[in-house]
Amino acid sequence: MKQIRILLADITKIKVDAIVNAANTSLLGGGGVDGAIHRAAGPELLKECTALGGCETGQAKITKGYNLPASYVIHTPGPVWRGGSRNEEALLEGSYLNSLKLAEEYGCKTVAFPSISTGIYHFPLDKASTIALRTIDGFLQNSSIIEVVTVACFDEHTKQAYEQAAQSLNMHVPVEITD
Ligand code: ADP
Repeated sequence: MKQIRILLADITKIKVDAIVNAANTSLLGGGGVDGAIHRAAGPELLKECTALGGCETGQAKITKGYNLPASYVIHTPGPVWRGGSRNEEALLEGSYLNSLKLAEEYGCKTVAFPSISTGIYHFPLDKASTIALRTIDGFLQNSSIIEVVTVACFDEHTKQAYEQAAQSLNMHVPVEITD
């Protein structure tokens, strides 16, 4: 059965087919969740990323997971928030959509996302959580491959925003909120 899970977690510890990395366009690592994923995966991840030649904002590229419990890492640079008039919302939707498409192409049944762009990139959390859940819900409804999508919230404040967004949206896929 299909499901969306919202939980408080470190994404580097989750055993799913693919975790998504909120990367930057160089794909060469950075701070926040990107740094944590590279540290946990080990140096082989950077080696593979170096060969990818970067990635445009809102697009996605895939690598193996190396020392992570996840088999794959899908790297997507979310948009930097610049006030909302630079196509940020559509680009964030693109990050979720293109990551899910890539996961499907690789036969992933379970995928975990961090809260893309709401850290160093300063995308407003209420808007970002709505875009994330609406896009995941829409995709999951029409997917015959992906079964469970987890949103790994790193702090309580982020988790609350996703819970609130799930309540405000008319979600089609059942949402499970785990403490
Ligand atoms: P961005 O540059 O896209 O804003 P950040 O990594 O700065 O990316 O932040 C995105 C979100 O990921 C933030 O909510 C941040 O707290 C969270 N985060 C940081 N480390 C982890 C982790 N290990 N697992 C899950 N989420 C994390």
